[in-house]
Amino acid sequence: MKLFADLEKIIKYDEPMASHTWYKLGGPARYFITPENHDQLLEVTKRCHENNIDIYVLGGGSNMLISDNGVDGAVICLSADCFKQVEIKGDHVKAGAGVSMSSLLRETARNGLGGMECMAGIPGTVGGALKINAGGRFGDIGAMTWSVDLMDSSGYEFIWQANELYFGYRMSNITARYILGAEFKLTQDDPERIGQMIKEVWMLKKSSQPMETRSAGCVFKNPRAMSAGALIDKAGLKGTRCGGAVVSDRHANFFIAETGAKSQDVLNLIDLVRNKIIERFGVELELELQIWK
Ligand SMILES: Cc1cc2nc3c(=O)[nH]c(=O)nc-3n(C[C@H](O)[C@H](O)[C@H](O)COP(=O)(O)OP(=O)(O)OC[C@H]3O[C@@H](n4cnc5c(N)ncnc54)[C@H](O)[C@@H]3O)c2cc1C
Repeated sequence: MKLFADLEKIIKYDEPMASHTWYKLGGPARYFITPENHDQLLEVTKRCHENNIDIYVLGGGSNMLISDNGVDGAVICLSADCFKQVEIKGDHVKAGAGVSMSSLLRETARNGLGGMECMAGIPGTVGGALKINAGGRFGDIGAMTWSVDLMDSSGYEFIWQANELYFGYRMSNITARYILGAEFKLTQDDPERIGQMIKEVWMLKKSSQPMETRSAGCVFKNPRAMSAGALIDKAGLKGTRCGGAVVSDRHANFFIAETGAKSQDVLNLIDLVRNKIIERFGVELELELQIWK
């Protein structure tokens, strides 16, 4: 029997990952799977396990660098409608893992629910944001998270409440294979005021970050009490390039992929910058960017 018999509709073979990442880089995934419901998610997970196929979960691909060689396994993406539902009840909002942060922000603001303004200008999905506790200087997604719906590798679905969750700086304690969705507690507020705050956060980001270029946001986490971007800038590395990858002039912690860039160029640039920062300041920068290689 074929490995994914009767699931062919949701499987693509040798799918170029460049089509699914903000960097627009990355070779083919052996299997690219978009389950349409929980049962299909469970079934593909089971078949992958039975056949020793590694599973990788992809959200919006906005924090990812995927190797030019691609992914020798199954990339599972919760982008079907079933994982993109939003439900508002009073000041609580339930959102599927596949909902884009920008549409959730729009929807909550329109309904006079504030608290998510700190997520303005952060691309990607609810699932990806929860996994790494996305956010910035105005707050992070963990702060408004009431509970998270999860599925482990055996298909067991469960919910973690706020008191079981831990969100730190660009990390969470979520280790379950799949984030299926979450419930957020927001605050009732004037839609116009919320809209104004979103605009302000967005403008601030736009003025300091190269939003319109191919990147994956900040490459490195900020070391304690320091800014990774400021260290890279101080070391004179703005504009440094490896092939088609270049350190942004606008924000030194953004590495841009120019036309013709390869994932390997970005990887080389990461090594080069990291080594220079160790040499110059004795600080070892930790990656914020997720790398599949
Ligand atoms: C221009 C730009 C600006 C950015 N600004 C910011 C910023 O201000 N603050 C910030 O924090 N980030 C920022 N980012 C990075 C990125 O947008 C966020 O980290 C975002 O939350 C990632 O979400 P995603 O859906 O794209 O996740 P992906 O990049 O697809 O995945 C990220 C991680 O989450 C895991 N994951 C994704 N979905 C699921 C799921 N359903 N279940 C289990 N695991 C899952 C993946 O396996 C991976 O480990 C920026 C990126 C860009 C391109």
